[in-house]
Amino acid sequence: MYIWRRRQVYIVLKRTGNKHIHKTSTPEKALLNNVLTHANIYRLRLIAWLLIAFMSILIVLQLVFIAKVVLPRALEIAPYIMHLRFIFIGGSVAFLIVSGRPASPNAITRRHYIYSYGYILFNLTGFAILSGLIQSIGPGIASSYLMAMIISSAFLYLNLPNSVLIYSLAWAVMSIMVWRFQFDWLVASSVFLNSSFVTIIAIFISYTVYTNRVREFLYQRKIERQKEKLLLSNDMLKNLSYLDALTGIPNRRFFDEFLRREWKRAVREQQPLCMIMIDIDHFKLFNDTFGHQNGDDALIQVGTTLNMAVKRPGDLVFRYGGEEFAAILPKTDQTGVTEVAKRMLQAVSGLKIYHPFSPTGRLTISVGLACVQPKNGELPDYVIDCADKALYRAKGAGGNQYVRA
Ligand code: GH3
Ligand code: MG
Ligand code: MG
Repeated sequence: MYIWRRRQVYIVLKRTGNKHIHKTSTPEKALLNNVLTHANIYRLRLIAWLLIAFMSILIVLQLVFIAKVVLPRALEIAPYIMHLRFIFIGGSVAFLIVSGRPASPNAITRRHYIYSYGYILFNLTGFAILSGLIQSIGPGIASSYLMAMIISSAFLYLNLPNSVLIYSLAWAVMSIMVWRFQFDWLVASSVFLNSSFVTIIAIFISYTVYTNRVREFLYQRKIERQKEKLLLSNDMLKNLSYLDALTGIPNRRFFDEFLRREWKRAVREQQPLCMIMIDIDHFKLFNDTFGHQNGDDALIQVGTTLNMAVKRPGDLVFRYGGEEFAAILPKTDQTGVTEVAKRMLQAVSGLKIYHPFSPTGRLTISVGLACVQPKNGELPDYVIDCADKALYRAKGAGGNQYVRA
């Protein structure tokens, strides 16, 4: 039945004529099956409660009116019918207990499939037997069988192979009951034709209900996928506008927003905020010597290296502009920020980018650092100013060093 179900989903997916349908992946099919089974479980639970209620009422009625029954055949089959009603109640209670209430389609497991198909089959064959018995009393038309077939085809999602299998089994049981218990050939043929006709109609209804639900599912998924794509490209655009095109690290716009946010947080939480300003030494000469293209390559290397020099997730390195970089380190003290500055100096020097006009023969940086305790009423520009002045002093002292504000 499991293989049939998967194959049927595939056939319906193919027939709906949607471009996505051929490409519907196995997880998508599994999700669809789970969505349908999830819905089936809840509908079957409702049916189970109704059956328990109706069967209980019918048991009471049968007990109250059994003395007034006049047809000998009705008296004869009454105990069987009583037993059947108890079996219906028992089966329904069992289904309610084992099926549980799966929270979402993701919670659907293999056993939910077994319980739902099992309970549908149990009900339909049960009603076939009950109806088969009752129609033997008089020229009935097997109304409870007909009702069970129509209700289950209209309310449950069964794919074609499964509905053919389940409804045919019920129909076979019904036919055996008619052949075995209806001795009037005219009535028997009428009941047989009625139940056969309703079985075919039930299969048609079931197929229509199922295909419509599959279409709706595919449509929903298509919209969901488009929404995901849109959100993703929105995210990408947003990320792009916050990243520096050359070095790929956060840009000046990001810097401004991040500083404003962290400044407010530092005021609120009474935490220090540290800033590192970095400037490449003699970069104009580097450009003039090796050309703008090589200058760009050096900027990329320096940017990436500085970015890797900060370790805490809250710390960020930005391209501040031109050959200047900045780092913001929230909740960090003087010692911590000095460590980072030293690491940055070493890391850039460690790149060993040749620079003929540098005293060390390598490309180096100058670093200015400042740690402040932001107060209400002060502007974030204050910490930039402090770090900038420190950087200026580092430059004045010959570069390739850090100075604390
Ligand atoms: P100092 O040691 O005083 O910092 O000297 P400097 O030459 O680095 O100082 P200055 O700030 O005057 O020069 C910055 C140079 O950086 C100017 C420009 O040639 C170069 N520059 C700025 N942005 C870029 C860029 O995006 N790509 C390249 N290749 N060079 C850039
Ligand atoms: Mg500069
Ligand atoms: Mg410079």
